[in-house]
Amino acid sequence: MRQPMVAGNWKLNGSSESNKLLIDGIKQGLGEVKKAQVVVCPPSVYLGQVNDLIDGTEILLGVQNVSEQVSGAYTGEISVSMLGDFSCKYAILGHSERRSLYAESDELVAKKFAAVKEAHLVPIFCVGELLEEREANQTEDVVARQIDAVIDLVGISAFKDVVIAYEPVWAIGTGKTATPQQAQDVHAFIRQRLATHDAEIAQQTRILYGGSVKPSNAKEIFNMPDIDGGLIGGASLKAEDFLAICTAAN
Ligand code: PEP
Repeated sequence: MRQPMVAGNWKLNGSSESNKLLIDGIKQGLGEVKKAQVVVCPPSVYLGQVNDLIDGTEILLGVQNVSEQVSGAYTGEISVSMLGDFSCKYAILGHSERRSLYAESDELVAKKFAAVKEAHLVPIFCVGELLEEREANQTEDVVARQIDAVIDLVGISAFKDVVIAYEPVWAIGTGKTATPQQAQDVHAFIRQRLATHDAEIAQQTRILYGGSVKPSNAKEIFNMPDIDGGLIGGASLKAEDFLAICTAAN
């Protein structure tokens, strides 16, 4: 039985003041969240603050990006060992904004994946196709390529306890959501792809959907058999909306 997860990706948003208001709001409604594991991923500079704010609650902490390097002359980067100073459990990797705006290749994402696993953190490993790739019927090829790049480097056994997020790039921040069936089809494909390597890992892996999930569409999406929750951008910045999405997994 896979426990649903709803993870909020705050992206480049927040301030000490707004973070406190948001976490206080989430805490107030947390009792209504019966099933989903709730994760927040603030900008790294606020990890310490949010770490303290969620102390003693069921809310878990994640980071939005991490270096593949351990230490040294890498200006502006943060390492997995630094994350060990907070109770940070999850690391979003391969988000389409990192892939497209910061030119992260499949190979770099795979190296980051390896570093995160080595540090006993849990990757939230994002995959997904561009609009033109979907229109050219290449969705499965793209997603398979992104997954295989990681399996080639770390092996399928490293996928134990990993979370995958399927995020069609055309649905991120656009208000356009994949239909529940479109999302389910790709989730089933991902699970089947993992199963060609290891059936047990395929069954255990949580696969989240991301792309304009809102309180109004979350339940329908989460009801699909291979969808185990969501990675939420815009709607994770309002406590009320984020909680409504978390409770949609009840
Ligand atoms: C995301 O960036 O991971 C995301 C899903 O964003 P949004 O919910 O805003 O589409």
